[in-house]
Amino acid sequence: MKKLFTPDMYLDSVFDITPVMLKNKGIYGLILDIDNTLVATYIKKADERAADFIKSLKENGLKAVIVSNGKKKRVELFCKPLGIEYIYKAHKPLGGALKKAIEMMGLPYDKVAILGDQLFTDVLGGNLLGIHSILVKPMDPDEPLFIKIKRIFEKPFLKKIEYDVKKNRIK
Ligand SMILES: [Mg+2]
Repeated sequence: MKKLFTPDMYLDSVFDITPVMLKNKGIYGLILDIDNTLVATYIKKADERAADFIKSLKENGLKAVIVSNGKKKRVELFCKPLGIEYIYKAHKPLGGALKKAIEMMGLPYDKVAILGDQLFTDVLGGNLLGIHSILVKPMDPDEPLFIKIKRIFEKPFLKKIEYDVKKNRIK
């Protein structure tokens, strides 16, 4: 079994990812987080970078669904102008919403990756389901208190992940 707190990929930013990179790894669908992954938590609408990223996925034949633990209003306001499908109040790392998103994409589990900034939410959720997991560094340190607390517990795992990246065990 996969290690639950180890992502398959660890990158500085979502914008380091290209459709070609994903396809080369056999990934044809992305489950995307919003907060601190695509935009900082306090940014309401997608900026040009985030919008272009989602556009480039679509243009290259990749499927994408936003799966956020955020509230309806936040998630809808962000997703609707982008024309991307979404699930709000997803309760990641629980698998219900993630399974639904994979169903919406119509892809087998091994062709799907989850991408987000939180180890105990995004990466754990993906690993529990056995899909690919991609961890990115949070965009902005300005986060709600409960997330700041989670970050403290992420630290020892991140150290190990960074070590694995150095040793080339994680790309
Ligand atoms: Mg997030």
